[in-house]
Amino acid sequence: MQSTAGVVVIIGTGGTIAGTSARADDLVGYKSGALAAQDLVAAVPALAAQPIEAETLARLDSSDMDHATWAALRERAGWQLARPEVVAVIVTHGTDTLEETAWFLHRTLATAKPLVLTAAMRPATALSADGPQNLLDAVTVARVAGARGVVAVLAGCVHAGMDLRKLHGWRVDAFGSGDGGPLGVVEDGRMRLFRAWPDAPLHAAAQALGDPARWPVVDIVTSHAGARARTLDALVAAGAQGIVIAGTGNGSVHLELTDAARRAMAAGVAVRRASRCLLGGVVGAPPDALPSAGPMTPVQARIELMLDLLAGREA
Ligand code: ASP
Repeated sequence: MQSTAGVVVIIGTGGTIAGTSARADDLVGYKSGALAAQDLVAAVPALAAQPIEAETLARLDSSDMDHATWAALRERAGWQLARPEVVAVIVTHGTDTLEETAWFLHRTLATAKPLVLTAAMRPATALSADGPQNLLDAVTVARVAGARGVVAVLAGCVHAGMDLRKLHGWRVDAFGSGDGGPLGVVEDGRMRLFRAWPDAPLHAAAQALGDPARWPVVDIVTSHAGARARTLDALVAAGAQGIVIAGTGNGSVHLELTDAARRAMAAGVAVRRASRCLLGGVVGAPPDALPSAGPMTPVQARIELMLDLLAGREA
């Protein structure tokens, strides 16, 4: 595919890709987010001759990702993408909540240019660190003519941000695109596109997200054998404005939790029913079922419900 010239901006937010350890064989006991974005670029000689700007927004282990960082990232990425000389923004990130940041940006960031997320499963100091190749591949994708929307590049695969999910806890090839399959692959420095670039309308709440400290509180409860109402009741008592239930199978919910959810809804709490299965989402809605999150994973549904509540849509 043809590539575009122009500036690519890399925004670092931390994660294992920027992680370091004193030992090269240490794949677990490293410190996430130790390196700045400039250090990640410097580790890839092939990027030296390219117009690239790098800046460090955060140094988080992404398991600690928070709404304030999301708001700051969205604002900064949007600002950079609006510069005429910038062709794309790349965000380096931890893998743990990468799919959540991808969904948040997919639903709230208006851009006709690509925003490419990348990450690594092994720290920068590892014997076979995956971060440098992932970053190089991310730049390749960022420069593909016609690329647009929020995508993620990991282990040679290009995923639409809306489809991204982490499937494995420690393997280098840890991500998938659910039922849709990947958007494409990067082969020897070139991207092969399998389907159309992601293109979906933004959420209505994207117009006025406001102060992240005031975003509605939405929590996730898992349905399981022996589930009890008290988990859901406790969250409502603690002030949850929305609850996503990670249901079993096709979004089925334990009777105890269903009763608790109905009481919560009667008290004005918004409820969505997703599936804890890795694939498939929730199909259909039997009579009297709790409101469905459809194809969204529980973590996607949590963000979506938060945005729904912000936009005044409670369904
Ligand atoms: N805990 C790390 C993070 O999400 C894991 C990783 O990046 O692979 O920041």
